[in-house]
Amino acid sequence: MEFLVMPEFRDRTAVVTGAAQGIGLVTAMGFLRNGARVLAVDRDEEAIADALTDFLGEFSGRVEFLKCDLSDPRQIEDCCLKILERANEIDVLVNNAGLGNWKRLEERTVEEWDEVINVNLRAPYLMVRYLLPGLLEGAAVVNIASTRALMSEADTEPYSASKGGLLALTHSLAVSLASRKIRVNAISPGWIEVSAYKKRKERRIPVLREIDHLQHPAGRVGKPEDVANSVLFLCSEKSAFITGTNLVVDGGMTIKMIYAE
Ligand code: NAP
Repeated sequence: MEFLVMPEFRDRTAVVTGAAQGIGLVTAMGFLRNGARVLAVDRDEEAIADALTDFLGEFSGRVEFLKCDLSDPRQIEDCCLKILERANEIDVLVNNAGLGNWKRLEERTVEEWDEVINVNLRAPYLMVRYLLPGLLEGAAVVNIASTRALMSEADTEPYSASKGGLLALTHSLAVSLASRKIRVNAISPGWIEVSAYKKRKERRIPVLREIDHLQHPAGRVGKPEDVANSVLFLCSEKSAFITGTNLVVDGGMTIKMIYAE
């Protein structure tokens, strides 16, 4: 896996949520490869154990998992207090954890709606709120949204709404935190194939058809490091003039105009 080489992250502290699998795991690896310390947050104990054994062993001195269910505000507050006990200064916060609920709207319960909104939208807000004492001048926050914030398939209402809200939260936080010199940006991934970075019992070699790749103007389906490298860039000083924005990382899928044949 190839990551941007960014020595500025050496000995910096990055907090990454949903870091036991997928994009969050690979993003954590991107910071670790660049010498950072990573405080990783996830709720899935099995995934945490597998990630530590299978992917993060070489970084064992610099990565630490905190178990937290991000749908629960009390657990988020406790988790952030623990993070602040371990690190006085936080340089990077990546709000990556997220989930969907693909269901016909007449079948979806209020609890299912709430869970998606609470994890995908409320948790990023609360993570910033409770970590604020540690987010000092120069810190960067990246919220992982989705191209589904901008376009939809059927039956995805809470996911799309949460990710659209996350883009609005991003520019709102960017303005609120500007006086503290904290930048806040979002990344909207398109199709990112994460099956090789799941916990063992869900891990698969990706099976992708030629048409899956070719429908992307970039000619291929996305990899988790496409997102991780974008996160590294948005957290680095190379992006010092960028705040409140949404970087679409989708191989061009959302700019493609589609007409019936
Ligand atoms: P993933 O492989 O499912 O990993 C997400 C991790 O977050 C999982 O370990 C998951 O644990 C954890 N998580 C979910 N709910 C949580 C909660 N309440 N508390 C703590 N941890 C929780 O997902 P991914 O595909 O890497 O996606 C990462 C982010 O990118 C998400 O925000 C997603 O919406 C966004 N995204 C992904 C794609 C894509 O194509 N992969 C495209 C656009 C946007 P559980 O296994 O227990 O749920």
